[in-house]
Amino acid sequence: MDPNCIFCRIIAGDIPSTRVLENEQVVAFRDVNPQAPTHVLVVPREHVAGFEQLAAGSPIWNALVAAAQDVVRMEGLANGSRLVINQGSDGGQTVPHLHVHVLGGRPFRWPPG
Ligand code: 5GP
Ligand code: ZN
Repeated sequence: MDPNCIFCRIIAGDIPSTRVLENEQVVAFRDVNPQAPTHVLVVPREHVAGFEQLAAGSPIWNALVAAAQDVVRMEGLANGSRLVINQGSDGGQTVPHLHVHVLGGRPFRWPPG
């Protein structure tokens, strides 16, 4: 728990959020500034700054992917979805606590720009 980290504070319940699922390893909640009809953030309970900081073979990765799959099913994104991890400054990461964006409910273009 990093008291200066907004996602750690959301996980702790100090900052309110709309949770869609949680288990021992991860929490998923709706993005406050959604970029699509479904925009959920899946985050590890443990404070990890980003995917580059994740230890090789960490069980957190599997937990994030499994939870993202659950969100896709729960949100009924049968037409498809987009998973995004922004890493570091060039990646557009604004919150330095690892998170997977699960987006859906509209089509997305490629390349993203
Ligand atoms: P990043 O740019 O780091 O990949 O994504 C951070 C995301 O966190 C953004 O999409 C932003 O809207 C979301 N976010 C920032 N602060 C809060 C908050 O207090 N609550 C929620 N639910 N989402 C937040
Ligand atoms: Zn954190």
